[in-house]
Amino acid sequence: MKTIGVLTSGGDAPGMNAAIRAVVRYGIYNNINVLGINKGYRGLIDNDIEKMDLSSVADIIHRGGTTLGTARCEKFMTKEGFQEALETIRYRDIDGIVVIGGDGSFRGAKELSEAGVKTIGIPGTIDNDLAYTDYTIGFSTALETILDAISKIRDTSSSHERTIIMEVMGRNCGDLALYSGLAGGAEMVLIPEVEINIEEVAEKITQGMARGKKHSIIMLAEGAGDAYGIRDQINEYIGVPIRCTVLGYIQRGGTPVSYDRLLGSRMGANAVECLLNGNNNVLLGTKNGKIFDMDIEEALNMKKKFDDKAFELTKILSI
Ligand code: ADP
Repeated sequence: MKTIGVLTSGGDAPGMNAAIRAVVRYGIYNNINVLGINKGYRGLIDNDIEKMDLSSVADIIHRGGTTLGTARCEKFMTKEGFQEALETIRYRDIDGIVVIGGDGSFRGAKELSEAGVKTIGIPGTIDNDLAYTDYTIGFSTALETILDAISKIRDTSSSHERTIIMEVMGRNCGDLALYSGLAGGAEMVLIPEVEINIEEVAEKITQGMARGKKHSIIMLAEGAGDAYGIRDQINEYIGVPIRCTVLGYIQRGGTPVSYDRLLGSRMGANAVECLLNGNNNVLLGTKNGKIFDMDIEEALNMKKKFDDKAFELTKILSI
């Protein structure tokens, strides 16, 4: 293992920079050449690659986003694009690649590993939508951002005695809405994993008002519907004023919280260890506070378990 490459791909997530920094510094510490591949798989196709030194990753651990840049690269999914990526890997004498990204990026990593490229995946996505790991890098920071927004919305909604629907990210996985709802004291959580019963939602708002609640906060994952549509449906049952807030890309940015920096730093070093030990073609994850690795295909085939206890608890605690 003489030369390794590191790239970030798909949606950016706070804490990715801590992972990049760890791969680069842990690699150099172990006398490995580390190459930074810009803009995800596109950088592999375009040979947009730079040699990293210790100072390439100076002053980035506290920054959100990814200093290597990221992209959604359709061309990598074509035969021609994939071949061009493989040619670059050969041309640059890359012995192993660390891919920091989400589910889509890991499908790309699986393709690379099947083509004989030693590949390690580090989970970087705010959605926490990967089944094999308890947490992904960026999820905790996004949760904090959402919680901050809930606190602010709470002030205004209690002053005006209003119901608020806050739409957050999560197309297939409602973890951001669920855990911010539980931690933020929301009245309801609407997520793709659970079928929505609008009548029940309307009833809960009415019950809350009857017992003197000053506001109701409904957390909605984007995959469960859009805030304005849900508002209109609720208003078919009850005529209360409902305000909608769609948080959008604010959730992606910001200074990574300590947990995401720690996860990024540990996983970055662990990825280099895996390559050094010949433990290739694995994804890194965390279970019960420990970092572990799992075969890429096995990890990608796992089905995410829905945390129904957290869902029920949110309901109970908001009676
Ligand atoms: P994320 O990694 O955040 O889930 P995407 O799903 O957009 O983000 O995937 C990022 C990139 O990974 C894609 O633009 C593409 O280059 C690559 N990719 C996604 N799916 C596949 C696949 N099935 N095979 C090969 N590459 C893929």
